[in-house]
Amino acid sequence: SDVGSQKERVVTEEEWLQKWEMGNIGFHKEQRHPLLQKYLDVLLNGRSGLRIFFPLCGKAVEMKWLADMGHSVVGVEVSEQAVKDFFSEHSLPYCEEPVPEISGAKMFQSTSGNISLYCCSIYDLSSSIVGKFDGVWDRGALVAVNPCDRQRYASLMINLVEKNSSYLLVTVSYDPNKHKGPPFYVPESEIKRLFG
Ligand code: SAH
Repeated sequence: SDVGSQKERVVTEEEWLQKWEMGNIGFHKEQRHPLLQKYLDVLLNGRSGLRIFFPLCGKAVEMKWLADMGHSVVGVEVSEQAVKDFFSEHSLPYCEEPVPEISGAKMFQSTSGNISLYCCSIYDLSSSIVGKFDGVWDRGALVAVNPCDRQRYASLMINLVEKNSSYLLVTVSYDPNKHKGPPFYVPESEIKRLFG
């Protein structure tokens, strides 16, 4: 099908903040994603104590789940409300500190230290700030990125992962002429083009 109808669409950060403010967050799910449960072994590949990245994390409940398994979770999210809701909804105490390398950014960290959520745009991050990751859970992330920013997003993600990392990506398939997105329709050919 033709993705041309979505190519020009842009959702601004301000619009995302508004969605959170209005409670317009149908993308958030209270239950763990069935595909993460199904492919958890692929993500972990027999390893423990991984560093796992959640791009465009929202308040994804899977962050708590993976942290409870002993992994170290890092997320990035523009909405401070989402980040604070995550910690309060899981009754997790946290502290908040500025990120010296990124003006205006804050990092929220669980007191136990195993969940760190950066409140800023993902495009402000680099491996010199957040390090590299052994695993990525990309759900509602690539498909939420504006089509014009996909290349930049993919290049950044490639930079943020270790050589022996696993990257789980969830996309949705539908007729892009019938919905404007997000989530945007990202065909497999596009994923191959972006990630090789
Ligand atoms: N992955 C989450 C949220 C998906 S919705 C989940 O599975 O529930 C996409 C999220 O990305 C929204 O919470 C939005 O506020 C956030 N977002 C949008 N653009 C962003 C950007 N450039 N940097 C960081 N977060 C962003």
